[in-house]
Amino acid sequence: MSSRASYFQTLKLLEDHHKWFRESIPLIASENVSSPAVREALASDFGHRYAEGWPGERVYAGCTYIDQVELLCMDLMKRLFSAEFVDVRPISGVVANLALYTAFTEPGDVMMALSIPCGGHITTGKKHLGGTAGAVKGLDVRYLALDYKELNIDVDKTRERVRKLIQKGDPPKLVMFGASVFPFPHPIKELADIFHDVGATIGYDAAHVAGLIAGGIFQDPLREGADVVSLSTHKTLFGPQHGGIVSWDKHSEAIKKATFPGMVSNHHLHALAGVTVACAEMMEFGRDYTRQVVKNAQALAKALHDRGFNVLAEHKNFTESQVILIDITKQGDGGTIEEILEKANVIINRNLLPWDIKEGRHFMHPGGIRLGTSEVTRLGMKEPEMAEVADFIKRVIIKKEDVRRVKEEVAEFRKRYQKVHYCFENATDAYEYVRIR
Ligand SMILES: *Cc1c(COP(=O)(O)O)cnc(C)c1O
Repeated sequence: MSSRASYFQTLKLLEDHHKWFRESIPLIASENVSSPAVREALASDFGHRYAEGWPGERVYAGCTYIDQVELLCMDLMKRLFSAEFVDVRPISGVVANLALYTAFTEPGDVMMALSIPCGGHITTGKKHLGGTAGAVKGLDVRYLALDYKELNIDVDKTRERVRKLIQKGDPPKLVMFGASVFPFPHPIKELADIFHDVGATIGYDAAHVAGLIAGGIFQDPLREGADVVSLSTHKTLFGPQHGGIVSWDKHSEAIKKATFPGMVSNHHLHALAGVTVACAEMMEFGRDYTRQVVKNAQALAKALHDRGFNVLAEHKNFTESQVILIDITKQGDGGTIEEILEKANVIINRNLLPWDIKEGRHFMHPGGIRLGTSEVTRLGMKEPEMAEVADFIKRVIIKKEDVRRVKEEVAEFRKRYQKVHYCFENATDAYEYVRIR
């Protein structure tokens, strides 16, 4: 392809993507859609600049306005998380976790976290799996125990594992609570003493639930015993893709140094401005938005359950966050189901179930699918719409209707939800493609 053709092809693909999302039901639990104001920030000149260092102590000129935005961001984030100290410079959740590891551990230290099939994230993965903690940071990762039925950390079994590690002379230096399948608040309070007694740092990976915590509907990790919390700003928190760390004043120097010069040179200042806008939106609308996210997740779970799907944790009303996990083995495998639904413009993702590896299933064709309600909530959908969404999924997966017909009806349904809600201004539609060239 000629350079000119590649240029136009790239821009056309962007427009095609926008059109597709205008007509789809986005149910990826780690995604969301940001407001027009956030998109404006992303397109600003901040994205061309450097601001190494801390506001007021930069090692670059030209930061007059950048400093003011970063200070606003820090102030808003401190209030949203009731935190003494925040570092808003990590450019993603992965980078925030790396900074956290750097501040609180040395290579070779023992760290505990959930395994990937149990909902853990690649950043807390073991070395032989290529996980960040093991492969990049050289941490010796051991697993927290998961109660399969409760879909939560098993307190007694975890205590037992920690005791064994202590007996062997390998006490954990760090524990990471938090997960990528995170339907119920983790038992930090119940486990804080055993970790703090051996001098371990209690970390909490809030990538998925940062918005829910900020909205005051999930747990409050810093009050429950966490020393440090890492964030992604674009999952339930509806900002652009970025990261952050919130903690206590006594850890400020260690974290600041780990972030810069440790982990970032430029810190994506356009995204940082977008995070600032999103935090202001969360302050104003976060309460209503997060309550609706959880109500929608429970409504979608129930609607799917009523239509014959094996949604996990029914005895606990399925979820207390944005995410629901479905055992799809009666209908197929997660990979195939994901593909079929995508053809009908319903965007979900395959997911390992906690017992999948033991039963010989693989992450390409796992036994589960994961759905989240953050983005459809941001688009203004409520409980009645969750029943309509469940109907589309049933028609494709159980009734095996023609995906082309369902896809047309999905597009028709989506026409009613084109604006971003829970924000100050929404003149531009959620997926409108904005040309400035
Ligand atoms: C998504 C996720 C991350 C990584 O976040 P990015 O912002 O994509 O780098 C880290 N931890 C958990 C538990 C996650 O789910």
